Amino acid sequence: MRGNLIIISAPSGTGKTTILKKLFTQIQGVTFSVSHTTRKPRASEKNSIDYHFTDKETFELMCAGNEFIEWAEVHGNYYGTSKQEVNRHLDQVLDVVLDIDVQGARQVREAAGKDCFSIFIVPPSWEEQEKRLIGRDTDSPETIQLRLKNARQEMKDADLYDFMIVNDTVDEAADVLRSILIAERSRKHRNSKGKPLSLPE
Ligand code: ADP
Ligand code: 5GP
Repeated sequence: MRGNLIIISAPSGTGKTTILKKLFTQIQGVTFSVSHTTRKPRASEKNSIDYHFTDKETFELMCAGNEFIEWAEVHGNYYGTSKQEVNRHLDQVLDVVLDIDVQGARQVREAAGKDCFSIFIVPPSWEEQEKRLIGRDTDSPETIQLRLKNARQEMKDADLYDFMIVNDTVDEAADVLRSILIAERSRKHRNSKGKPLSLPE
């Protein structure tokens, strides 16, 4: 028995990181795959916790060595998911969340087929997304404009996802996400904590 592979995507600034942080305080047996990226760290981000921050040369070597399940160029930087890290967690019967963009999601679906499910989180409106990106105060006005522009393109993939969540309030969105995880565990004979069920003989 292995854990579930869970793809989560959202236009930048939707609140995906905020919802995931809340989820991880509320549910056991789930972990997060720390991606590699060539993006520069934000002030609040820590290496190996938020991302493995790497230079372009190292990233390209990892690509050539086939070390990623998927990788993509997103908003002008490279991002990729390490095969080794994901398999190590799945083998421990942990559910693994991949916080990846729509291009990465397509690659994982193709590689994993039915062995994964995907969730798309959307903001309640484009105005609210812009407000959140500005309020986060981590990106330049140019980067914010690029992310807003890319959001419209990313939305075109929404129908490819198994579930959609509107992030109106963090509490409600985290509740829906937690419910989806628990329901998906039940398909694989696991309890709400993600442990194998012990059934009566
Ligand atoms: P993402 O990871 O999707 O890019 P973040 O989690 O960094 O987005 O959230 C972007 C900003 O929006 C943050 O400042 C966060 O505090 C805020 N935010 C997230 N969810 C909500 C919400 N439901 N209502 C209001 N603000 C939110
Ligand atoms: P940010 O720079 O805001 O942390 O992330 C920007 C975008 O890159 C988000 O849509 C996020 O989901 C995506 N992303 C983060 N890690 C990966 C990854 O490993 N692969 C892919 N394809 N996208 C990623």
